[in-house]
Amino acid sequence: MHDYRSDALLNVSYEIRGPVLREAQRLEKAGQDILKLNIGNPAPFGFQAPASILRDVTDHLGSAAGYCDAKGLTEARRALLEHYRGRAVEGITAEDIYVGNGVSELIVMTLQGLLNPDDEILIPAPDYPLWTAATNLTGARPIHYIKDEQANWQPDLDDMRKKITAKTRAIVIINPNNPTGAVYSRDVLEAVVALARTHGLLLFCDEIYDRIVYDGAEHITLASLAGDVPCLTFSGLSKAWRVAGFRCGWMVFSGCKKRTRLYRQGLETLASMRLCANVPAQYAVAGALSCENSIDTLVLPKGRLFEQRKVVWERLTAIAGVSCVKPQGAFYLFPKLDRRLYRIDSDEQLVLQLLREEQLLLVHGTGFNWPSADHVRFVALPDVAVLHEALDRFERFLGRLGGRRSVSKSV
Ligand code: PLP
Repeated sequence: MHDYRSDALLNVSYEIRGPVLREAQRLEKAGQDILKLNIGNPAPFGFQAPASILRDVTDHLGSAAGYCDAKGLTEARRALLEHYRGRAVEGITAEDIYVGNGVSELIVMTLQGLLNPDDEILIPAPDYPLWTAATNLTGARPIHYIKDEQANWQPDLDDMRKKITAKTRAIVIINPNNPTGAVYSRDVLEAVVALARTHGLLLFCDEIYDRIVYDGAEHITLASLAGDVPCLTFSGLSKAWRVAGFRCGWMVFSGCKKRTRLYRQGLETLASMRLCANVPAQYAVAGALSCENSIDTLVLPKGRLFEQRKVVWERLTAIAGVSCVKPQGAFYLFPKLDRRLYRIDSDEQLVLQLLREEQLLLVHGTGFNWPSADHVRFVALPDVAVLHEALDRFERFLGRLGGRRSVSKSV
């Protein structure tokens, strides 16, 4: 039978919004109340955006009706320039800054402009799966380097090194990390820069959680260590400023300009092809960058994000056969299930079964391109009472699962 899908989509899967979510939506339509811990969207969990951000947008609506420059409003880009200079990123100008409809759009755009079919790009496993999906869309090959759970989920540099070939174009780093919550050390970041320099690779650093760190962890902007190595740094308003629906992100292109002249030209073409990013939200950028402390109260002891992460981590690690590295950043936990206790052949079937039996929606580890079926991801955004309810359900489910034979592909 004739169908219309392009071949480019054949290898693109995006499990965060895939079959398990569709089943959750079906159950909801059938009247079930589903506890959804599947997506990092702060607003539905009662996180308010700073009032000044909302004011900056509404105050400027009258002047935001037209298209703006394809790279974004000058005022927003100047503020971003000052911000990244303040974070020790050298040699940049406002021309090196692009504002987009969220980091998501910029990821798709920058990979589209970089990769030819059969090129390779190093992406972490587990990853934020848009990176893999957007690579597959270009026909290039995502090559996953392992992050080492035993080393607090820092990238395994030997694995990264081994996977560099003549076809490798770039290394992707997500720091602070989704889904593991790792915050990378200076040593690791310097070693990644050294690899990129030796092999002539580009660096892509997704820093959307750069302000969400706990226990005194320090987030270091990779570009500040990269010097002349070409580096694309991504961040935006969705997480720390809690306005994911405004669709506002940005990208800073640093490092040697001579080596990236044609790529930059290509990105300008791609940016122009979608005319511009959402304009009203861009009026919030300058103010957002100067309200430095807006997130602090949430990530310090007694702050919502701090306390919620603590509850999930304590409850998870108290369950038999569950281990979990304590996150240092972002708002996710990526626990491991001991397969000697829980026989799991398919982690997707595991989360489907959890959904049907306990009305709790999580994302399975292989949905983040983790190679084995032994992890799930928790989102620690709901308030503590809801999280306790979620953990009760998870614990009850695992209690039954431990006594069952297997969760197999045929469930
Ligand atoms: N990068 C990472 C690591 C994320 O976790 C997310 C959203 O969850 C995004 C990018 C998407 O960000 P945006 O809302 O700016 O498109």
